[in-house]
Amino acid sequence: MRYIRAAGVRDQRSTPSGDAHSWTHKAACSGMPLDLFFGPPYEREPAKSLREADALQVCAACPVRIDCLEDALIPDPKQQHGIAGGMTAEERISERRKRARRLGGKPQRKVAKRPARKPSRVLVDATGTMRRLQALATRGIGSKTVERHCAHGSHGHLGDIRNGDCKKIDARVAKAVADAYPRLAALPPGPNGGQAFALARAKGWAPPEAWDGADIDDPRSEPRTVRIPAVGFARRLQAAAVAGVPISVAVQATGLSRTFLSKLRSGGVDTLRPEDAEALRKAWPQVAASEAFSPGTIGQAVTNGWLPLSAWEGVDIDDPDAKPRQTAAA
Ligand code: SF4
Repeated sequence: MRYIRAAGVRDQRSTPSGDAHSWTHKAACSGMPLDLFFGPPYEREPAKSLREADALQVCAACPVRIDCLEDALIPDPKQQHGIAGGMTAEERISERRKRARRLGGKPQRKVAKRPARKPSRVLVDATGTMRRLQALATRGIGSKTVERHCAHGSHGHLGDIRNGDCKKIDARVAKAVADAYPRLAALPPGPNGGQAFALARAKGWAPPEAWDGADIDDPRSEPRTVRIPAVGFARRLQAAAVAGVPISVAVQATGLSRTFLSKLRSGGVDTLRPEDAEALRKAWPQVAASEAFSPGTIGQAVTNGWLPLSAWEGVDIDDPDAKPRQTAAA
């Protein structure tokens, strides 16, 4: 059929070389008008029109009809219409289907190659990222700070991940947080307070050191229970009391309860949660510089034999075995 079209255009039959098409020079349609077999371009006619009937008559007498039909039955989107091999386009489609059914498969079609698809987002488990963000929150590092250090992830999304609202996240966000985490965890603690810090304390999130030696990305792993010796913090609060600074100053600066801080100052607490220790560490400069004065607090310090800060000069106040330079409050 395709050779007929060529013949019509060039007013002579075009015969491709090669044995596979050696039959074409015997075609009965050779030299006939192209429109007889194809009709005017893109015209849709009623099935089996007069023109088609004439063309089919030519095919019926064609000595190479079988060869022509076999060639025309090769699926080709460009050869979907016209008469060829003694069949209309519809009859050829039907014949193709029949043959495909006999072979037990679907009729083959030439499928245009689709352009390569853009790889879709890779999602990963959010556990490790959530734990990292929670650990940073225990240091007072919120999602806005994390966002500034990460190439991917908005602070809103990072906050959702930290709060456990996302089960799967974009792998690029997970990597960005994992890459920034060591750097952020090593930052000096910021000023006390802040939403992230308060949330971490309220939720009891594990600090970075709780994941030392554990796979933070493994959902089955558990954080170590980290407790910080309380002795140094108790000594500082006692020293503040010797200076007359009431416990309410520490309550305000740390956000911790008065009962807890009073117990700590009296030596009734052995260890602290890391986040409480962090709160006390951050609050200490403010407590030490406070000008608040309470004679009752001084009386309490004298009664209990608490030591001033000067007693710990040159000694590690946090060392449980450290000995003060003097043994009684002045
Ligand atoms: S079968 Fe019909 S279309 Fe095919 S070569 Fe013969 S005359 Fe032409």
